[in-house]
Amino acid sequence: MSSARLATSQFTTSFATRPAVVASAPGRVNLIGEHTDYNGGPVLPAALERRTAVAAAPSDGWRFVSSVDGAVHEVDVDAPLRRDWTDYLVGTVRELRAGGAAPAGALVAVAGTVPIGAGLSSSAALTVAAARALSLLAGRSLSPTELVDVAFHAEHDQVGVRCGRMDQTIAAHGQRSTALLLETASGTLRRVPFGGRLWIVETGVSHKLTGGALNERWRECEEALELIRGWRPGLRHLAQLTPSDLAEVARRLPPPLVPRVRHVVTETARTRAAAASLAAGDLAAAGRLLVEGHASLGVDYRSTIEEADFIVERAVERGAYGARLTGAGWGGAVVVLAPAEREGRILAEVSRDFGDQFGRVPEAWSTRAAAGVRREALPTVAE
Ligand code: ADP
Ligand code: MG
Repeated sequence: MSSARLATSQFTTSFATRPAVVASAPGRVNLIGEHTDYNGGPVLPAALERRTAVAAAPSDGWRFVSSVDGAVHEVDVDAPLRRDWTDYLVGTVRELRAGGAAPAGALVAVAGTVPIGAGLSSSAALTVAAARALSLLAGRSLSPTELVDVAFHAEHDQVGVRCGRMDQTIAAHGQRSTALLLETASGTLRRVPFGGRLWIVETGVSHKLTGGALNERWRECEEALELIRGWRPGLRHLAQLTPSDLAEVARRLPPPLVPRVRHVVTETARTRAAAASLAAGDLAAAGRLLVEGHASLGVDYRSTIEEADFIVERAVERGAYGARLTGAGWGGAVVVLAPAEREGRILAEVSRDFGDQFGRVPEAWSTRAAAGVRREALPTVAE
């Protein structure tokens, strides 16, 4: 069932009335460019066919429901955050309000098909779709760029996740059969045609973005940047360094920081090269870069997990062009790029191997690069 239909059905079940607007936004897979976003480097995400939809109608106060727990939450958007999923909606409402684009109150239902906490950005799908639906209720039609701003500040400033802007940007600007090369330092977007299919294999290990490991990497990168400025005073981001700077970095930085910087610098080069390979239709070259990126996450950034290493290794052995852990790490999903004529067989074999090793069959599914946020026609559903 489409996400719009799921959200509408959740809405009518919970509120015994019909929504006035429905909007949806996609999850995303980052093809390559991991941990470059908060270091001023490029990322290369594509929007998923899996989407989160938000159905809404005007009301006096705020009542939120998600198919995740099915309970109706009556929320005071001015009260301290509750530290649960409703914070994402409250954050969106507050940011819309700051721009005069929020309704006075609303009934809101959320549902969709983006796996939650799998590194596929269910959080930005939710905030971008909510920003679209709620601003429409207020009679405003925000541009994709304005939606990115609202959703980014909702998650970053309100909920308090140290995210970059990649997830919100692809959720708002995604296009069919297109990946986006986003240069995070300048905000430049370049569309990279990619009509093929991507496979997603979920490790089944849920990451916790607000958890310590990612924050530790942030701190390490900040510390490294600060130290490198001792001899490169003008340096704004680690991603401005080039591979030829790495020898000096290795001589001067405390040893634990060296591999972190090396990952950022080599990943920056790989990401731009992968965009060029995709644009040229050279999937084999793009696949090799994915595999090198995964190795760098393992050796230099130490953000992979055994399950992901296993999937990458087997996928390549079975004939995929390449694969790598996508998303922040310490859990999440592996993205696999495989020859179209062999991908079904490769994935079946990898799933079987994984089952033999870990005693459970991973969720594996495919997607093409899909469209970004949109208003949905109101689906007709049986009440
Ligand atoms: P990811 O974005 O990789 O899926 P995050 O930890 O950034 O993981 O965001 C997941 C959080 O977003 C969930 O814990 C929940 O609070 C919120 N969320 C995402 N999708 C939904 C949904 N459909 N219903 C309710 N909350 C959601
Ligand atoms: Mg997220």
